[in-house]
This record gives sequence, structure tokens and C-alpha cells, in this order.
Amino acid sequence: MSTTEPRVAIVTGAGRGIGAAIAQRLASDGLKVAVLDLAEEQSQKTVDAITSAGGQALAVGADVSDEDSVKAAVAKVADELGAPTVLVNNAGIIRDNLLFKMTVDDWDAVMGVHLRGAFLMSRETQKYMTEAGFGRIVNLSSVSALGSRGQANYSAAKAGLQGFTKTLAIELGKFGVTTNAIAPGFIESDMTAATAERIGISFDEFIEKTVAQIPVARSGKPEDVAHLASFLISEGAGYVNGQVIYAGGGPFD
Ligand code: NAP
Repeated sequence: MSTTEPRVAIVTGAGRGIGAAIAQRLASDGLKVAVLDLAEEQSQKTVDAITSAGGQALAVGADVSDEDSVKAAVAKVADELGAPTVLVNNAGIIRDNLLFKMTVDDWDAVMGVHLRGAFLMSRETQKYMTEAGFGRIVNLSSVSALGSRGQANYSAAKAGLQGFTKTLAIELGKFGVTTNAIAPGFIESDMTAATAERIGISFDEFIEKTVAQIPVARSGKPEDVAHLASFLISEGAGYVNGQVIYAGGGPFD
């Protein structure tokens, strides 16, 4: 690939929230972007935002936890946009509950989207990256990986993604493929709005209480995560590999 030809990125769960912001940012960085969400229609709003800003995007419907669906989606991207050498594993769900009330379905659903989804998408796209001698994989972890009440499933999945990230970094590095994780703190999105609803307070009140604990004294926005993703995916970031970068307005470890 010549350096003037745009790279092709797939962003999962990009119909809204953080994924939509990352897809739009990568498009404005000059990449062609496959906007993947559960149903193709859910991706259309993000695709329209990208194309109306002059970028190139393709709506793709797929369930990242389903092997056949992932294979079909990646093949479609390769056919219609070109070889995908950038992957952002962003699709996510929450099924919060305290351990004694957490069902097996709650556990399996969260593992399925976050861990199985990231595994299937990465396995399916790595061949394009290794062939190109260039690749960027960015996984969405979370500060919840460090422990989070009511989120045994989510916290385990987000911690699992950190191990997955470091392992891909070791396996794929020699092919010019880097793998890193972004672990956001509180970001305003439908997901955090759902958390406010679960604990029985308004989203505004939830934001206010959360911001009181954040050193930079503001909440995170999807664009904050998109900015970091843009850096990790950039051509110049090839020596940053296997890192988990916390983006939560303060220190985490
Ligand atoms: P969101 O607003 O709930 O968006 C998640 C997106 O993922 C939705 O578009 C959803 O589609 C899609 N999705 C869910 N299951 C899918 C599947 N099986 N296949 C394909 N797409 C699927 O969440 P967000 O806040 O933007 O979060 C994005 C990522 O960042 C997630 O991995 C999340 O865990 C992580 N994160 C978020 C925060 C935060 O504070 N918001 C903090 C740390 C980490 P539907 O519309 O069909 O549901």
C-alpha cells in the first residue's frame, strides 16, 4: 500500500457513543471507516455524519459475538472499502448486578460481546494487517477493570481485554501491528445514562456526583477517547505497543 492510499478502519459499536466519535475522528484523520453496529441501520447516522463532513464510510451490520456474522462483516469491508488494517474493538454492553443476583445470562452476554467479540474481530482482521506489514488494534477496556461494585462480569471482561491486548502486542508486533488498550473513566454516553437509571438518580445528578471525584473537574466526552484512539492509530505511534492507557481525568492503577 502506498502511504497516500487511505487506510481502512473498522470501528465496532460505532452507531453511537464512543464508537461513533472514534469513527468520525478517524474519518477526519483521512481513513476510510467501516461503521459496524448490530444492525446496519444503526450505523447509518454515523455514516451520514462522516460523509456529510467529506469523509468515506460504510455501514456494516454484525454481531461481534457471532463468528459467522464477524466473518461476513470483515469480508464485506475488505470487498467494499479495502483491506482493514485498523480495528477498534469498542462494542460493549453492561448487565450490572451484585454477584448474588447476577444470572449466567448476564455473565455470558457481557463476556460474549467484550471478550469473544474482540477475539473474533481481531482474529478475522489480523491476516490483512500481517499481509500489509502494518496494523493497529485498539481495545476498549475500562477503569472498571480495577474493580467496580455491581460489575463482576464487566470488570472481569475489561481486565481480560488488558491481557488480550498485551498478548496480541507480543504475537503481532513483528508484523508491524501494534495492539493497545484505552481504559476510559466516566464518559457521558447512553451506557453511563443507563447506569444512572439503574442506581435511581438522574443523569445530571450522576454526572455531578462523578465529576466531584475527577481531578480535572469535568466529565469525559466520547471525543476525549477518540483523540487518544487517533494517536494510537497514527502512523507515528508504531513504538507504542501492548499499553493500557487510562483516560479518566486522573491517575489510575
Ligand atoms: P454505548 O453508548 O452503549 O454504545 C455501545 C455500542 O455497542 C452500541 O452502538 C451497541 O449497539 C453496540 N453493540 C452492543 N453489542 C454489540 C454487538 N454484539 N455487536 C456489535 N455492536 C454491539 O456505549 P459507550 O459508552 O459508547 O461505550 C463504548 C465502549 O467503551 C464499550 O466497550 C464500553 O464498555 C467502553 N467504556 C465506556 C465507558 C463510559 O463511561 N461510557 C467507560 C469505560 C469503557 P446497540 O445500539 O444495538 O446496543
